[in-house]
Amino acid sequence: MFEKIAPDLYKIEIPLPGNPLKALNSYVFKTNDRNLIIDTGMNRPECLDAMMTGLKELDINLAKTDLFITHMHADHSGLISHLATDTSTVYCSQLDGDIINSKDDWNDMLDFAKLSGFPSDEDAIRLHPGFKYRTHKEVNFTVVDENDLISIGDYSFQCVWTPGHTPGHLCLYDEAKKILISGDHILGRITPNISLWSDDHSPLDEYLESLNKIYPMEIDLVLPAHRSLFTNCRERIQQLRQHHDNRASEILSILQSGPRNAFYIASQMKWDLNFKHWDQFPITQKWFATGEVIAHLKYLENLGEVYRSQTPQEITFSLK
Ligand SMILES: [Zn+2]
Repeated sequence: MFEKIAPDLYKIEIPLPGNPLKALNSYVFKTNDRNLIIDTGMNRPECLDAMMTGLKELDINLAKTDLFITHMHADHSGLISHLATDTSTVYCSQLDGDIINSKDDWNDMLDFAKLSGFPSDEDAIRLHPGFKYRTHKEVNFTVVDENDLISIGDYSFQCVWTPGHTPGHLCLYDEAKKILISGDHILGRITPNISLWSDDHSPLDEYLESLNKIYPMEIDLVLPAHRSLFTNCRERIQQLRQHHDNRASEILSILQSGPRNAFYIASQMKWDLNFKHWDQFPITQKWFATGEVIAHLKYLENLGEVYRSQTPQEITFSLK
């Protein structure tokens, strides 16, 4: 099943069964010369079936098709090795391409999670969709960076480095057509997950900077990687800023009761999920929630609003 969006531009909806994101939007440009697929779906049969059906309906010849990966996550990169042929170019940023090929250091993340109060549970990784449905073969990426141009048919897209959701996240912007392919940087009805499982950078600071970078651009249509297309990009950016502001305030008010670790803070927050109580959250959702809290704590720490204290067993944060 595909949907036509503009001349030579189509959307294939790739289902993500059991995942709150519901589906991935894969954008396909079809021209007489070459084709281009933006983001792939996870490495699982349900995604592969939907992709192959859509490509067949569009009569896409994969030997004449290139791929652009907005970022490393498995729902965007999982099917690369099924789709890329010997004559395909696969574009990705250096940072995210390296992570895809290094297979990540999940054990380091698990150690940091334990220090943050996360229960010792290997399932958090084993069941994590990013671990379970990633691409298993080494990918020969063609590295693209800020301001590089990707041209296809009448479209000319500039790569815009938008770190935050991942370190190497790239959006594509066609200035003449005022179209932004936003990956997971700006989504319409849902908020992109900004997580941290280490102490070496501040993804929320980076994310807010990346929102500032997109804000002045003239954009008439946003093509996000999940949910519906939208037109009100600046209004959406304002809402996303507000969302993170609210989260930060919520964390500060939880810390009024004393020093806490990230997992405890996450258990006390309001999450937009269909579960009544934190105890009912699946372990992977607790994982995402705790990662978001850690990212906010790092942001608040940089602002001087919270303070960290660390022992070999635990990291806690307090208001003073
Ligand atoms: Zn993502």
